[in-house]
Amino acid sequence: MVKTILDNFCVKSGVFCPKCEEKIKKGHVSELDLKIIKILCELEKEFPILQDVFFHKAVEVENILSILVDKQDVGKLLSQGGKILKAMSDRTDKKIRILSSGVDDRQFIEDLLAPFSILTINTVWLPDESTETKAILYGRKPKRVPIDFEIIKKLAKEIRGMTLRIEFEKN
Ligand SMILES: [Zn+2]
Repeated sequence: MVKTILDNFCVKSGVFCPKCEEKIKKGHVSELDLKIIKILCELEKEFPILQDVFFHKAVEVENILSILVDKQDVGKLLSQGGKILKAMSDRTDKKIRILSSGVDDRQFIEDLLAPFSILTINTVWLPDESTETKAILYGRKPKRVPIDFEIIKKLAKEIRGMTLRIEFEKN
């Protein structure tokens, strides 16, 4: 069964013990997370590869639903020729983006911005002592960008509290 920070038994029965209830109340697990956990549990009947995926959280920005799982589980969700992604997309009416949890900032940004390749990542200090993370992508900005950078920036903020700036090497 899909692993989460909640007990398997509680997830399966839909009745939460005080420990799980506490995690939900404190916001460690959101309503959206519960919805995605349920979908993953349903899908694992059809796709047994999902059985030991560790789900961390789901974050939704506009039409993109980003799902954070353990690093070694990313490939499982992307396997089956994209059928799992499609099934998730059909059930949620969103485009799915799988990200790995617990990776460093560089890896996180690379995953977020794929298929673009990153030239450098810099931290920019602002006068108020907050920071921005500036990712510079190789080459020139293409006419048609396959991913919406505004959504990507919002995801970075939601998931890591990171203020992301995206630029291209050449203007
Ligand atoms: Zn429990």
